[in-house]
Amino acid sequence: MDAASPLIAFNNTYARDLPGTFIAQSPAKAPAPRLLRLNRALAIELGIDPDRLEQQAAMIFSGAALPEGAAPIAQAYAGHQFGGFSPQLGDGRALLLGEVIDSTGQRRDIALKGSGLTPFSRGGDGKAAIGPVLREYLIGEAMHALGVPTTRALAAVATGDVVYREAPLPGAVLTRVAASYIRVGTFQFFAARGDTARVKTLADYTIARHDPGAASAANPYLALFDGVIARQCRLIAGWMGLGFIHGVMNTDNMTLSGETIDYGPCAFMEGYAPGTVFSSIDQTGRYAYANQPLILGWNLARLAETLLPLFDADETRAVDLANDRLTAIAGQYRAAWVDVMRAKLGLDGTDDADGALADDLLAAMTGQGADWTLTFRRLADATMGDTATLAPLFKDSTALKIWLPRWQARLAPDAQARMNRTNPAVIPRNHLVEDALVAATEGDMVPFDRLLAEITDPFAETHFNERYTLPAPQGLAPYVTYCGT
Ligand code: AMP
Ligand code: MG
Repeated sequence: MDAASPLIAFNNTYARDLPGTFIAQSPAKAPAPRLLRLNRALAIELGIDPDRLEQQAAMIFSGAALPEGAAPIAQAYAGHQFGGFSPQLGDGRALLLGEVIDSTGQRRDIALKGSGLTPFSRGGDGKAAIGPVLREYLIGEAMHALGVPTTRALAAVATGDVVYREAPLPGAVLTRVAASYIRVGTFQFFAARGDTARVKTLADYTIARHDPGAASAANPYLALFDGVIARQCRLIAGWMGLGFIHGVMNTDNMTLSGETIDYGPCAFMEGYAPGTVFSSIDQTGRYAYANQPLILGWNLARLAETLLPLFDADETRAVDLANDRLTAIAGQYRAAWVDVMRAKLGLDGTDDADGALADDLLAAMTGQGADWTLTFRRLADATMGDTATLAPLFKDSTALKIWLPRWQARLAPDAQARMNRTNPAVIPRNHLVEDALVAATEGDMVPFDRLLAEITDPFAETHFNERYTLPAPQGLAPYVTYCGT
């Protein structure tokens, strides 16, 4: 690419094809932009010259100067938050700069988060602080390395602004890349207003972007819904396999693309406990670890409601079609989860009893305080009969020892190697993430860089500093995440 060509080859369809679903808005001009980190690998994937980008990243990704071809918009969406419907949320502190076609031909959205007020800001300040911006950077890169579909950080830029939360904090803008920012809540925004025409335009756009095959199906909108169900079942099964707890599975935080989005009060479970919840605002445990598959079904029911007029002109028939799908979700999710567990357990082929085998391991883990991540990593050692590293994770390993021979009888010949490619040694453990963010807020990026390097190579066996593989030291106060992001 020569120096005269635009730095980023924007090709913007959302703004072109979906009038009335967004508001054009310029980012705030950051007073003292400073590049914190640039994701050069992702820049290359997006077809952007990383060296040229590095020169300009602080300016363009802080909102101080717009790159050529960008047409920033705040997207409208609604959403059920903790079960209650808000008819108008929208990008209160985010702006979609535009779209690019990546090196694999996929259309990707590039957006700023923390770039100032928009018409959707409601009571908020439109800003973000360095800590939450870098948290989203870290967790997104970890999820990507762990093989889970996710939005990713392209850059983090300090703005030089002060952001007022519980305390004054240094401000930052996250540049975030997504397969698209179309959410369940995007459909809800127009459905809630009775604007079926826009629901249809949005559905057609989503089909073209995420389910092109659905366009030629007998009922394209049902085919779209089926596609979303399949992607979201796989996504949540992937989260469950990793012990990931999103923390705010509101319908505005669920994508049609099947990518994880909006890392706020998320965290990884350490000791296995189905009711684990970290978010200070989730008082009832609505979004606790084991509830996530149920919320998946609940959120997809909200999406189905918006699509009813497209499923069939006859309302009764449309509801029947939706209900057929909705009642099947539990089984589809279960199948996706059993697939994840088969891989985690190194099982050979498929057997009808695999789900029960996985269930029974969880039963053996219940109440034992066994670290989720380490249990699977050390099960790989137990494929050869060596339980010396595994058993000490359990307070009482009696039930585990009854379970092990059943599992060993089902193992693939190369189970140990397979399991070590599936079960990470390193996840972004909560206390390490916190340490990295506190240091970064004080200007020291070293812990962040160390952690980022470890979590982007999560399956390697040899080079680890043990510190990155172990749970929080005993005696730390229970981990709590805050929504003041
Ligand atoms: P979230 O909790 O990040 O998923 O955001 C929920 C809604 O609140 C979205 O409409 C956001 O745009 C909005 N929001 C969150 N934080 C801010 C902020 N600091 N300023 C303005 N709007 C915000
Ligand atoms: Mg959100």
